[in-house]
Amino acid sequence: MIEIAIDGTAASGKGTLAKNLAKKYGFAHLDTGLLYRKVADELIIKKKDTSSNLVYYSTKIARDLNFLELKKEDLRSEKTAKLASFIATYPKLREILNLKQKEFVIKNKTKFPGCILDGRDIGTKILPNADFKFFIDASIDIRAKRRLLEKNISFLQENDEKCMLQSLIREMKERDKLDSSRITSPLAPAVDAYVIDTSFIDADELLLKVTKIIEGI
Ligand code: C5P
Repeated sequence: MIEIAIDGTAASGKGTLAKNLAKKYGFAHLDTGLLYRKVADELIIKKKDTSSNLVYYSTKIARDLNFLELKKEDLRSEKTAKLASFIATYPKLREILNLKQKEFVIKNKTKFPGCILDGRDIGTKILPNADFKFFIDASIDIRAKRRLLEKNISFLQENDEKCMLQSLIREMKERDKLDSSRITSPLAPAVDAYVIDTSFIDADELLLKVTKIIEGI
């Protein structure tokens, strides 16, 4: 089974790349950020997000996490992402979610010719022996614009747009900082990863670039 590890910053295009590759090659795909977001979302729903014992509640939720639930839900809000990034600093939580990610790969070994995981520590921690590792990044301004476009808000006044963009830039910078500075499995390219900047290329161009690397063209 071919293993592909994709890491990178928020809104860098790594998720779309992972989906496109999975579709192209018929590989299994897991967006590992959804695991952290799901735990964060459950904490918010259960009103435990301000608890002084977040480690206890987040690990409890993580143990019972069901992969099938992830597909049905929209966990994309910045509030969920911020809490996800915060709890992602807990080594105990990471241990539980790491096992779930590895289980996903093992379960799909006989069902698919390959497996793609995208996240923050896939190439460094979850799939250290992956056949291909990619680290995707883009400038913060471009990533924030992409996030704003994803929100699909029509008829936004110019000033409101500027304000939303500024706050997205702030939130994403904070999250990048937290993700890159945590002690356990920080966001960083694996030494053997292909590092790709998507600031000036779109999803199709990125797919082409990565496909050429995989197929050795
Ligand atoms: O990729 P996404 O933005 O959905 O991830 C949400 C958060 O989950 C990230 O900011 C990061 O803190 C955490 N995460 C992680 N390790 C992963 C995937 C996500 O720490 N493999």
